[in-house]
Amino acid sequence: MSHPHPELSAPRALPKGGLRVIPLGGLGEVGRNMTVFEHEDRLLVVDCGVLFPEDHHPGVDLILPDFGPIRDRLDQVEALVLTHGHEDHIGATPYLLRERGDIPLVGSELTLALLDSKLREHRLKETVHHKVKEGDRLTFGPFELEFVAVNHSIPDALAVAIRTSAGMVLHTGDFKMDQLPLDGRITDLRAFARLGEEGVDLFLTDSTNAETPGFTPAEKSITPVIDQVFRESSQRIIVACFASHVHRVQQVLDAAYAHERQVAYVGRSMVRNMAIARDLGYLKVPPGTLVDTKDLADLPPERQVLISTGSQGEPMSALSRIAQRNHHFVHIEEGDTVLLASSLIPGNENAVYRVINGLARWGARVVHKGNALVHVSGHASAGELLYCYNIVKPRNVLPVHGEMRHMLANRDLALATGVENVVVAEDGVVVDLVNGVASVAGKVECGYVFVDGSSVGDITESDLKDRRILGEEGFISVIVVVDSVSGKVSGGPEIHARGNALDGASFDEVKQPIIDALDRAIAEGNTDSYQLQQTVRRVIGRWVSGTHRRRPMIIPVVIEA
Ligand SMILES: [Zn+2]
Ligand SMILES: [Zn+2]
Repeated sequence: MSHPHPELSAPRALPKGGLRVIPLGGLGEVGRNMTVFEHEDRLLVVDCGVLFPEDHHPGVDLILPDFGPIRDRLDQVEALVLTHGHEDHIGATPYLLRERGDIPLVGSELTLALLDSKLREHRLKETVHHKVKEGDRLTFGPFELEFVAVNHSIPDALAVAIRTSAGMVLHTGDFKMDQLPLDGRITDLRAFARLGEEGVDLFLTDSTNAETPGFTPAEKSITPVIDQVFRESSQRIIVACFASHVHRVQQVLDAAYAHERQVAYVGRSMVRNMAIARDLGYLKVPPGTLVDTKDLADLPPERQVLISTGSQGEPMSALSRIAQRNHHFVHIEEGDTVLLASSLIPGNENAVYRVINGLARWGARVVHKGNALVHVSGHASAGELLYCYNIVKPRNVLPVHGEMRHMLANRDLALATGVENVVVAEDGVVVDLVNGVASVAGKVECGYVFVDGSSVGDITESDLKDRRILGEEGFISVIVVVDSVSGKVSGGPEIHARGNALDGASFDEVKQPIIDALDRAIAEGNTDSYQLQQTVRRVIGRWVSGTHRRRPMIIPVVIEA
């Protein structure tokens, strides 16, 4: 059993015939999943997703996996396999294709369709597609792939078995084991068992819910709750859920049909994804149920249902605007019902409760996970994972898709079923499978890549630190003019502050110490303007922290005149 080790050095050379696993994202966080497999000098990539920023990433739009470790080897990539259409698995694909546009893309029908609309938004030209379904086999260089149906919170998800001369890998992707899913497509445990009989050398398993005991409830178990909400609502109903949760939308459409209401979608991604799902037959719209938003407004409130994005409190989403009453056509009214049929992703709590409070303030009744069973997870709980380990009987296990606590809980489950070797690794920790045994081989540099507007990877951790300081402490600017002939301060210091409660008069006491420190520094021969600016920064920084207990950003400017 191995642990992540911060002192790891660069990985040794991969022994001949071995299989290397390089996780570039998703191990240590829920998001930006991306795993690279290396064998006989060829690479296979599984998933390429994004991570959504949190409060401590001010101004960041998206966080990508770090392609750095494979950037020089992109020509060796045989294919990119996409297990399903969630953003944390496909969202970074356009950015990878910008670096090499002809990487063959492999995925199920719905996954590729959702990806295609994303690639079009990024104005990327036609890419090589391999549309696969469960049971299909496909060979890319030294990797023989076989796809297995798995059940998840989006239709058409796949696990992938990767046969190589070093052994067989089984990657579950995201999955759960709902035995009565809406579409009847269950996780194919018979295939898991068959692959287990053949011998799974390395099993990569979804850790998201490994800490949750028992079994994830069936999607159908929320049907009666939705039905009750519809029965009790005498006015408009607004449902918010993930724009990719086809089965959740299906349940709402069915309830609307049963209760003689009509439905409109709100939010660009909801409109787009549900059109794709309907076209491909994954979403069955009951006759006469779906209408345009502008036609919906003509109906009496008790006939209306809106299905909206924004279940995570995203500030720009339709639901947030509705809660603030500044949506351009949906005006929340007293007596409306809002159903948040989604999980609460850690980090989004404040934003979601802000939206709930906003809606409640206008008199809406808000039904959410905290007060009714209106959501079930898309991931296997501990009980389901135990089943999988017992059925597959893998030789080695690598927990994936989770924060450290999730991966460690998943490790314990594997060990409890008698798996002998479980390797816990974080992003960048390289794991080799050699002679049937998986072990940590070293570590590659693997950071966060921030997307901010049109810039990708230009914003660094230290920029974000600056933004956080600016956001929390504001800034102080100090301008001083130094006479280059006399070497004396001839103007200023002029001090301004923003974003904090420091006022101009309070700076008077620090002006003389700044002048004294500059005179002293120049007398000692420090005439370089950078050094003089550092002198100013030190004096005012010490003063403001001593007198005001603040640590604002300090911007010193020394002008030689
Ligand atoms: Zn997923
Ligand atoms: Zn995922």
